[in-house]
Amino acid sequence: MKGVLFIVSSPSGGGKTTLIHRTMEKLAERDLKAYFSVSHTTRAPRPGEADGRDYHFVDRPMFEEMVHAGQFLEWAEYADNLYGTSRAEVWRRLERGIDVFLDIDVQGAQQVKTSVPEAVKIFIYPPSYTVLKERLKQRRQDPPEAIRHRLQLALRELGVAGEFDYAIINDRIERAVEAMLGVCLAEHQRLTRMKPSLDAIREAFQRSLEEDLTE
Ligand code: 5GP
Repeated sequence: MKGVLFIVSSPSGGGKTTLIHRTMEKLAERDLKAYFSVSHTTRAPRPGEADGRDYHFVDRPMFEEMVHAGQFLEWAEYADNLYGTSRAEVWRRLERGIDVFLDIDVQGAQQVKTSVPEAVKIFIYPPSYTVLKERLKQRRQDPPEAIRHRLQLALRELGVAGEFDYAIINDRIERAVEAMLGVCLAEHQRLTRMKPSLDAIREAFQRSLEEDLTE
């Protein structure tokens, strides 16, 4: 069976990265394999960020070359930097039955949903303006004008959140993780995704019944 592609968006500082990693731990406890897709970006690394773990950090010419070569499933410009999801990174895992989580902005989410309609879009809401502003400030990684710009973008993002399949308010992290886990588990029970297993059960059932009746 193929893995499920989860697209997770929220304003920058909305806490989605932590939420995704915590949900992935819970999925692993249930033997469900999941992978966090590492994007390419032209943004400079923040203190503590590692190349290959948080992002693949590349320069603009390299990024543009990848765009021309069709290597991105989606890409977008956000706060003057380019961000993109590598096709190869996602497909080979989905094909192996591994769920893939994309932590991408709302423009990228729209592009992926158009090319992969069965993908599941989850929007993470900050509980309030004050909480989001505090989280961005506490990160101590962006200068004040970058924080202001991100808060302006956040309002625009909240405006398109209605196009998502699910919404989670990231008020208390434990509760938000439970909600996200619930969404992931429910998506695995979707009939269209379970069809191959269900067909196999029905066919085996039919064979057994026919054997019983001919005895
Ligand atoms: P940050 O600079 O705070 O790490 O990320 C800024 C925004 O870019 C976040 O909303 C994040 O989800 C988004 N982002 C990260 N990677 C990608 C990507 O590959 N594609 C798109 N479209 N957005 C991304």
